[in-house]
Amino acid sequence: MAEILDGILVRKAVLKELKTRIASGGSVSVPGLAVIQLGDNPASTAYVNNKEKYAQKLGMHAEVHRMPASFSEPELHALIERLNADEKIHGIIVQMPLPAHIDPNKATGAVAPAKDVDGLTPENQGRLWTGRRGHRSCTPAGVMRMLDHYGVELKGRHAAIVGRSNLVGKPLAAMMLERHATVTLCHSRTRNLAEVTRSADVVVAATGLAGLITAEHVRDGAVVIDVGINFVETGAIGEDGKPEVKLVGDVAFAEVEPLASKITPVPGGVGPMTIAMLLSNTVDAWEMPQE
Ligand code: NDP
Repeated sequence: MAEILDGILVRKAVLKELKTRIASGGSVSVPGLAVIQLGDNPASTAYVNNKEKYAQKLGMHAEVHRMPASFSEPELHALIERLNADEKIHGIIVQMPLPAHIDPNKATGAVAPAKDVDGLTPENQGRLWTGRRGHRSCTPAGVMRMLDHYGVELKGRHAAIVGRSNLVGKPLAAMMLERHATVTLCHSRTRNLAEVTRSADVVVAATGLAGLITAEHVRDGAVVIDVGINFVETGAIGEDGKPEVKLVGDVAFAEVEPLASKITPVPGGVGPMTIAMLLSNTVDAWEMPQE
């Protein structure tokens, strides 16, 4: 039986540390987080509400700018500029996805790197790859924090990351390299994926394809980290007459768990870590502004 890596438990530990750091910072100022949401995508609204809730729970200043989907690009950039200059605000998030008329790269790129607590600006991604201090993308930082919490050694080990997005796969590869892992970054054109992942000590799945990683992809004793968030139909019809859905990861948990030494579940694995690392980045920005 694999050890289950519990993201809710690790998140609790991170939030407790943050509370102590905020309390010891005195009462003159508190960390401030601003979230910008355009439109009313239900999933985005749930994520934004969660960010606001957790920030407030820690005694942070949180403000959500809920704007209509018709908000123009110049209006968005003007709002970001205003928040960049606002001393109460230490972290700014532009909630994705954005309406089609807004360029997401330009929007994230407009956030001052010092306040880019999502770690998505080219400045912060470059800082990561060149080993300099800067905000780090929250989900991969959450994966690293979980591995640390459960004492998973990366030095000299082979980590196969499936998925090469700027949000998850690429920054995670940089973080694991920094810890001296030998990293293979796999993607949709990787040949013989199962052969590559089977040779890894640590397998990370971040593709958005439910059940992509099966028993044939994992060797005995590997550590398996599932970043995927997928809603799949259960086959049943709910009380509202709509097909019932459930949340699953990219790993076929039931068949992989008996092989793995440690594994993250979905839900309750990596997911809860993302918000914890976002708040951690905001507290970092408040304590020690980036030069
Ligand atoms: P993207 O869609 O940006 O990237 C998916 C990656 O998976 C791409 O690199 C793609 O390859 C690769 N891929 C697709 N199909 C295959 C395949 N058959 N074999 C190997 N690789 C494949 O997704 P994200 O990185 O943004 O997110 C990945 C997953 O993680 C999603 O389920 C997302 O919801 C979840 N997520 C979870 C978070 C959390 O808090 N837990 C936070 C962020 C994301 P290619 O580049 O060649 O197209």
